Amino acid sequence: MADTIQLLPDHIANQIAAGEVIQRPASAVKELLENAVDAGATEIRLIINDAGKALIQVIDNGKGMNETDARMCFERHATSKIAKIEDLFQIRTMGFRGEALASIAAVAQVELKTKRAEDELGTYIEVENSTVIKQEPAALGNGTSIAMKNLFFNVPARRNFLKSNAAEMRHIIDEFIRVSMSFPEIQFTLTSNGQQVFYLEKGTLKQRIVQLLGTNYNSKLVSVQEHTDYLNIYGFVGKPETAKKTRGDQYFFVNNRFIRSGYLHHAVMQAFQDLIPSDGFPLYVLFIDLDPAQVDINVHPTKQEIKFEDEKIVYAFVQAAVKHALAQFSVAPSLEFDLDPTIQQLDAVNKPFTENEQSAATNSSLFQSFTQRFQAHVVNPGKSNMPGFEKKEERFESLMDQLRKPVADESSVTIGQFDHASFQPKASTPIAHLQLHQRYIIASTASGFILIHQGLAHERVLYEKFAAANQQSRLPSQRSLFPVSIDLAPADVALMTELTEPLQELGYLIEPFGNNSFVIQGTPADLEQGNEKHIIEQLLEQYKHFANELKVSKREQIMRHLSRQHAIRAGKSLSQKEMQQLVDDLFNCSQPGTTASGQPTFIEYNGSYLEKMFGQ
Ligand code: ADP
Ligand code: MG
Repeated sequence: MADTIQLLPDHIANQIAAGEVIQRPASAVKELLENAVDAGATEIRLIINDAGKALIQVIDNGKGMNETDARMCFERHATSKIAKIEDLFQIRTMGFRGEALASIAAVAQVELKTKRAEDELGTYIEVENSTVIKQEPAALGNGTSIAMKNLFFNVPARRNFLKSNAAEMRHIIDEFIRVSMSFPEIQFTLTSNGQQVFYLEKGTLKQRIVQLLGTNYNSKLVSVQEHTDYLNIYGFVGKPETAKKTRGDQYFFVNNRFIRSGYLHHAVMQAFQDLIPSDGFPLYVLFIDLDPAQVDINVHPTKQEIKFEDEKIVYAFVQAAVKHALAQFSVAPSLEFDLDPTIQQLDAVNKPFTENEQSAATNSSLFQSFTQRFQAHVVNPGKSNMPGFEKKEERFESLMDQLRKPVADESSVTIGQFDHASFQPKASTPIAHLQLHQRYIIASTASGFILIHQGLAHERVLYEKFAAANQQSRLPSQRSLFPVSIDLAPADVALMTELTEPLQELGYLIEPFGNNSFVIQGTPADLEQGNEKHIIEQLLEQYKHFANELKVSKREQIMRHLSRQHAIRAGKSLSQKEMQQLVDDLFNCSQPGTTASGQPTFIEYNGSYLEKMFGQ
């Protein structure tokens, strides 16, 4: 019998391995930017065409490579950054696995130009399918330019898997922000399809944050700064009033590497407790520097999770540092807190580090603040401050379950399901509707009544109105007498541009106003004006963060958002006529029973159920 096992040809093995490192244009962007940083560049240019699908190019003025290295760098496990296994625990560079360029060379057509300052001539190399197809000396400036064209040209399945240009561009911008945020001393630019998206001059971290996240944060940042022998924490948090309803402006960097950590996020949220609404997210950009031996970064290159040697101490330090900052800047009232026993008992607090470091450590202000009572940033008693995170989604789901559960037996109280025939809103002798708590409407039916939630019912009505609009028949707009403008972070401009067309169909006229600004010229006719800025900003925030996660289309998201935002609120008293109109509109809907996201709009109490409840 013939042998069945074969060794994969190199180029296929490389392609498979590449899939781990380069999943989308943004992963290549990250790797190339990090290489430029590692090369000591002070100026880095990122050039993108077609959301990275056609071109990703990074040009740096770093140390460059000699001829041999220029050829070598595309080999798998080619790295100048570690030589022996011990080096792995002292990594200060962004890369170290020597996989990125090899992976890029396996899935794109690559052109490398590089020259060191000490060399007269540089090197030009072309690579395709992991093979060098051209190499020659070239007259070049100092530094390196790597251009990768037609990503996944040889792996169509992966190419097809890529998302829309807007979505891929968003990922690229996210990576660009993460790398450029940690190196404010480096000048970065980002150009997309010939248009400059970012021009980041060298400056302070504070300036960089404002350049990247928007001038709204100007003068709204509180400095966080704590140094101990174990770790340093520095960066900024936003003043409580800048907290947003959606995530987005939260950044942790460990030894300059962007990481995600729900655990440390919780530490910051605890520090902000009582200062912001419980559903708000404060801005933070926090850098944690510690001995590389205390962190395991030897995880997968695309993973952003991290393992700390002692996670709890990092948590405690982060929380304390933020509290301290908020208290110092009198953002938080200097309340008296009791020391949280769980933190007091931490080994790292009681027995910091090695014996001989102990005295130095106990003198640090941060350490003392852990061990003294009545420090503003010592954590609250009573509540558990260590995780045991509150799972919002779960709580919400169970609430929804309860809500959906019939009040009594299913046949008699129906939620959101209704036999139109038994309902006679237009009876010849109309029975008045009743508004309860400025929130519900009671409308009588043939033998019982229905209890309508005015806000949710209106949400359904608006949703169907929006859903009926399309390019041919747009919803009418009313021009704003005083058009309001919206200033956006540079990264959001492309997104806003993408939203203007679908919004126009729904009656929102939004026009660009130069310099990252837009003006709302009109809003849907018949709907109250005055809140449009907030509504559009919220839409953008929501769209930005959930665009890729939700299974529903962009248009659907917009319609749901707008109908929710424009729906009448609880607390609005309605005239008899308005109630009648709402009830009529609701039952003219194709699906009157629920909102687009599935909440019931009314509950029916039929006659026989009522009789039964009275023991009849
Ligand atoms: P790693 O960064 O993990 O070492 P890469 O595949 O990203 O692996 O890069 C391989 C090697 O190529 C690097 O170790 C470095 O020596 C060299 N290199 C890559 N990009 C640059 C650059 N922009 N300037 C100078 N040298 C570079
Ligand atoms: Mg690298």
